[in-house]
Amino acid sequence: MSKAREKHAARLEALSLLGKDLTRRSRAHCELCDAHGIKLAPYEVKPVQEAPDIEHTVFACEVCIGQLSKLKTMSSDHWRCLNTSVWSETAPVQIIAVRVLKHLAANVEWAVDLYDQLYIAPEIAERIDQGEI
Ligand SMILES: [Zn+2]
Repeated sequence: MSKAREKHAARLEALSLLGKDLTRRSRAHCELCDAHGIKLAPYEVKPVQEAPDIEHTVFACEVCIGQLSKLKTMSSDHWRCLNTSVWSETAPVQIIAVRVLKHLAANVEWAVDLYDQLYIAPEIAERIDQGEI
């Protein structure tokens, strides 16, 4: 195995070790859209840390993760779930949710309204600014 592949495999392994803690924290619901009874996977909040940890990871469904990787075709209907998740007390969840909301607010009226109502603690705001999505 090449060095890069070895590194990638080690990272996936480390992420999968977070599964138990993430399942407990999320109660097996997608932390962004609240879907349950479906497969959830860790999604790392950028900037990616040296070693994965739960404070920099959200547990999300395939629909959410798919949406996060295709910014241009984001479905504003799917992201109505941000109404709840932008208020999350779990820092990484709030960070991803607010980043998505900011992205949508460029074109979507309800997103602008929701963004205007938000209160974001300064330490969270700082982390939000450290990455795109
Ligand atoms: Zn989801």
